[in-house]
Amino acid sequence: MTDKPVAIVTGGSRGIGAAIVKRLAKDGMHVVAVARNVDKLQAICDEVKAAGGSAEPVACDIADSAAVTKLIEDAFEKHGRLDVLVNNAGITKDGLILRMEDADFDTVINTNLKSAFVAIRSAARPMMRNKFGRIINISSVSGVIGNAGQANYAASKAGLIGLSKSVAKELASKGITCNCVAPGFITTDMTEVLPEAIKQGVLNFIPLKRFGSADEIAATVAFLASKEAAYITGQVICVDGGMAM
Ligand code: NAP
Repeated sequence: MTDKPVAIVTGGSRGIGAAIVKRLAKDGMHVVAVARNVDKLQAICDEVKAAGGSAEPVACDIADSAAVTKLIEDAFEKHGRLDVLVNNAGITKDGLILRMEDADFDTVINTNLKSAFVAIRSAARPMMRNKFGRIINISSVSGVIGNAGQANYAASKAGLIGLSKSVAKELASKGITCNCVAPGFITTDMTEVLPEAIKQGVLNFIPLKRFGSADEIAATVAFLASKEAAYITGQVICVDGGMAM
């Protein structure tokens, strides 16, 4: 049991998720950090503890619905509350539509979209009981404006937007908000692997003329998770240097 607000953050072992874990812990929450690689999670949680915060690693493959349900139930049973859920974990399997295999589509939809649906379904009951909840789904500008070569990824990220708006309407009367953050091009492992020519091409479409940082996404998530954001629900906040306007 903890008297701190409890947040679950998927994909907390690196990149944007790790920045969210550190930021929410800095803001006074106990953070359950989730990913498959528990060693990397442990390192992030150690960093949080060294800075005076509170975080624990939980290994879970979010593409496994039963495992996600258990993850949420266990966290609620252990801590007696669940205040914030951040569905951040995500993958890409890019390819042009003519060559995209069924498996590449299904894996991305399961990991990026279905996992969020399952996590929200499990988190809704404890949040309703406490008459408070903040659900934040990490979408993408690809889900807002589309992107060639990312039919699967863009569909999963656009799906998160529809999911969030529906959940926002369904749970508003219970004191629960649900919003999306849609990052543009953020420097992480996910974007590091892209060829330099592609990165330069993307830069031309960013009015602020630079890539974003994981900390800038974490700051937006922290705001949506805070009491100050109580009157914001069903929204998509693009944090993208102006890319999708
Ligand atoms: P990243 O550096 O590749 O990190 C992805 C995280 O998700 C890792 O912690 C990874 O941990 C976890 N993960 C992946 N598959 C998982 C699974 N099946 N089960 C549990 N955890 C899993 O990605 P990122 O750039 O930080 O992106 C984070 C989110 O932001 C994603 O949803 C991404 O689509 C979105 N986004 C990123 C950008 C960008 O420019 N970077 C732009 C728009 C949106 P393990 O591998 O250990 O499981």
